[in-house]
Amino acid sequence: MGTRTPLIAGNWKMHGSLRDSGALVSALRAGVESGDGPGMLLCPPHVYIQAVGEWLDGSPIRLGAQNLAEPPGPGAFTGEVSGAMLKDLGCEYVIVGHSERRALYGETDALVAAKFATAQSQGLTPILCVGETLEEREAEQTQAVVQRQVEAVLEAVGVEAFANAVVAYEPVWAIGTGRTASPDQAQQVHAFIRAIIGGRDATIAGGLQILYGGSVKGANAKELFAMEDIDGGLVGGASLDAEEFLTVFRAA
Ligand code: PEP
Repeated sequence: MGTRTPLIAGNWKMHGSLRDSGALVSALRAGVESGDGPGMLLCPPHVYIQAVGEWLDGSPIRLGAQNLAEPPGPGAFTGEVSGAMLKDLGCEYVIVGHSERRALYGETDALVAAKFATAQSQGLTPILCVGETLEEREAEQTQAVVQRQVEAVLEAVGVEAFANAVVAYEPVWAIGTGRTASPDQAQQVHAFIRAIIGGRDATIAGGLQILYGGSVKGANAKELFAMEDIDGGLVGGASLDAEEFLTVFRAA
């Protein structure tokens, strides 16, 4: 971890119920008293965002979303949720380009870049997810894939946009698999991402939070967060268990 303020983000994906979410939020609130130190962010399913926002009132825990519509809207986009609506409910952040969106919903680099731009235009901080599949890693394509994914956004919005963004390196083979990148493997890619941004603007690169995601849990968080270019985590499974997520948070 460098001098950047760490961020620990929980991606709940399509899990939980209203009741489970309430219990999780109250346990997390009890464990996060002050806003000093690392930031905690919760990204619930869209339908629970309003309730979670109300439960978080007065807490330093921040609110975000897992996805947004690419068209800024408003408009005839049945089933979609705009960044403006998320902002209206108190979201500050939105995840874009999660590997599940890329793999299961066909989100291309171009669409991810467009969502990144829409998020910012609607006052949200995008958390841009990038990462290689196992096949790509084995073919030594990790850097090429990550570079392509980052540059697609850089080309669309310019480096200045990264002054108000977060990047998450999430090797696809480590997401939800219990398999984590080693601290050295992750650090190498984080430093590489920072260098891509740094090639265009060193100050923006120096301030950019780059989170690691992929089976982060209480038992491995400390060694990952000890690395120079790892500024916190994007946590899936372990963010659904208050004690586990608080252990990750405290490791930062
Ligand atoms: C994620 O959803 O972004 C993620 C990293 O999931 P998990 O922590 O479960 O691997």
